[in-house]
Amino acid sequence: MSKGISPTLLWQRLVKESAHQLGHVLGLRHCLDWRCVMASTHDVERLDLKGEEACLAAVSLQSPAPRAPSHL
Ligand SMILES: [Zn+2]
Ligand SMILES: [Zn+2]
Repeated sequence: MSKGISPTLLWQRLVKESAHQLGHVLGLRHCLDWRCVMASTHDVERLDLKGEEACLAAVSLQSPAPRAPSHL
């Protein structure tokens, strides 16, 4: 293991990436909010910055209730 990376940090990355991929399984798409767990992060610096939860915008996409796209 490379030094300087704590097990806690690695665990947090694992949790965030797992939540992100789980979000895709649930039908969520990438979010533009960099703090959102569904933000597209392909470098660890941003992964460390973002949170472990999806924002309301990302979560609302998985609403099971079918709604007509009234704003499009
Ligand atoms: Zn993704
Ligand atoms: Zn989001």
